[in-house]
Amino acid sequence: MSLLDRFRDRVGSSAATTGDPLVDDLRAALSPERVKTDGAQRSLLGKDASVFDGGSAGPICYPVSTAEVVEIMRIAQVHERAVVPRGAGTGLAGGAIPLGAPIVVAVTKMTSILEIDEANGVAWVEPGVINLDLTRQLTPLGYHFAPDPSSQQVCTIGGNVANNSGGPHCLAYGVTNSHVAAIEVVSPAGEVIMLGGLDPEPDGYDLRGVFVGSEGTLGIATKVAVRLTKNRPAVRTLLMSFASVRDAANTVSDVIAAGIVPAAMEVMDQRITEAVENYVGAGYPTDAAAVLLAEVDGPDEGIDIDADRIAEIGRGNHATMVRVAADDTERALLWKGRKTAFGAVAQIAPDYYLHDTVVPRSALADVLDEIYAIADRHDLLIMNVFHAGDGNLHPLIVFDGRDEGVLDRVHAAGGEIIEASLAAGGVLSGEHGIGVEKQKYMDRLFSDADLEHQNRLRRAFDPVCRANPGKVLPMGHSCADIQQLRSVPTGVWG
Ligand SMILES: Cc1cc2nc3c(=O)[nH]c(=O)nc-3n(C[C@H](O)[C@H](O)[C@H](O)COP(=O)(O)OP(=O)(O)OC[C@H]3O[C@@H](n4cnc5c(N)ncnc54)[C@H](O)[C@@H]3O)c2cc1C
Repeated sequence: MSLLDRFRDRVGSSAATTGDPLVDDLRAALSPERVKTDGAQRSLLGKDASVFDGGSAGPICYPVSTAEVVEIMRIAQVHERAVVPRGAGTGLAGGAIPLGAPIVVAVTKMTSILEIDEANGVAWVEPGVINLDLTRQLTPLGYHFAPDPSSQQVCTIGGNVANNSGGPHCLAYGVTNSHVAAIEVVSPAGEVIMLGGLDPEPDGYDLRGVFVGSEGTLGIATKVAVRLTKNRPAVRTLLMSFASVRDAANTVSDVIAAGIVPAAMEVMDQRITEAVENYVGAGYPTDAAAVLLAEVDGPDEGIDIDADRIAEIGRGNHATMVRVAADDTERALLWKGRKTAFGAVAQIAPDYYLHDTVVPRSALADVLDEIYAIADRHDLLIMNVFHAGDGNLHPLIVFDGRDEGVLDRVHAAGGEIIEASLAAGGVLSGEHGIGVEKQKYMDRLFSDADLEHQNRLRRAFDPVCRANPGKVLPMGHSCADIQQLRSVPTGVWG
């Protein structure tokens, strides 16, 4: 009996047939309503929030349990199809774009917070739980989930894990990797495995750490034990303005050099500040070349000493204004401005490319100068809003995709931003991941031997490149060339 016949024998074939054996099998295993094949859905899920296209979704599955994800993986195996995990689709590196018409596994119906285990300091959650929903559920108990991407109102915990996401408050608290204790994963072979554990010093290899940031290439996370972070007893939020971006960037470097690690240090240039102010009226000065939002937290004692010291360092770097948020309402408004910055640019143009590189803090000011020059060379509008404390730049190229040839200029400028960041001793991504966006630059950062070991690791989890092929590793390395995979279909899905 063939694998396919054995599978059909096991699940039964009661569902009405569609004429496509893959879809029939998926519908028999899930339910017809949770396996979509219509053009509108496939077109929508053929993209993510990046500027990269070329996606072509196969059947789209909405599982509600680990057991269903296992079934999908087994069906994928039988039909020799690739599988792409998907959360909210807010990724900015094209990680969730389906290449070669794979089965798309959207975990957005797996949204339960299964258990809040205060004794072990974790919550077990399903991967489709939205980041901010988790924090909202934890807040009354005195906890929150520390990684706070600006997309936190919509992005999922599964996506956060897969991209090792960060956020403004990850400067002091660390990115997602520091906040995940264990992950239940359905492997590309359809096995359920547990990576990591609740023991503070788990034995064996740290496969949990390997999975975090693996961008859907090692399997599908179906349950995550996230660490509970205690709510902060006291907070001070400072708003400073500067006559140059360089002064703001130098303030950031000097604060860290002084041994202070604020909870957050975010810089916005004048262009983005104006857009935000017009959008939400957060109280930012619009005449400043840059504003710096710095936040310190901790026990009441000592917090004002740090806040005063940061203000003093700002003034030493020619701050034209220093203000401390008077209360929680003002603090929330200041953060609302920062977190809605990307939405605010819709007033200027319909499209944007939000870039992500990291440079040494000491190089921030020089690289920013270079980024403005790149924009001028390509006749593009670039705004800068970034997690300055860890050198994580987010140049935001704002454009109208309907303009002839503009996308070519956007991609050319994007490439030059990467070159400038690498030349300054930086790295490819602070938090958005590699996806398809930065794949071709991986060999600039890693040697052949480095990449070969990454290749072998990926193949150990996924010998046949079932999980999210065509991403992360560059051409010539594992699972990069989807045309060479046996599972690339043609015809209606092609
Ligand atoms: C306006 C805006 C602001 C943003 N701000 C930030 C920010 O401050 N910090 C930051 O880090 N990112 C930010 N992002 C990027 C993005 O929101 C994050 O990368 C987020 O974690 C992606 O989550 P998602 O649910 O949308 O995942 P998706 O985009 O659906 O998927 C992202 C990757 O994860 C994989 N994946 C998804 N779910 C699973 C799963 N269950 N198991 C295995 N793999 C899975 C996918 O295959 C893909 O490779 C921003 C994006 C936007 C649009």
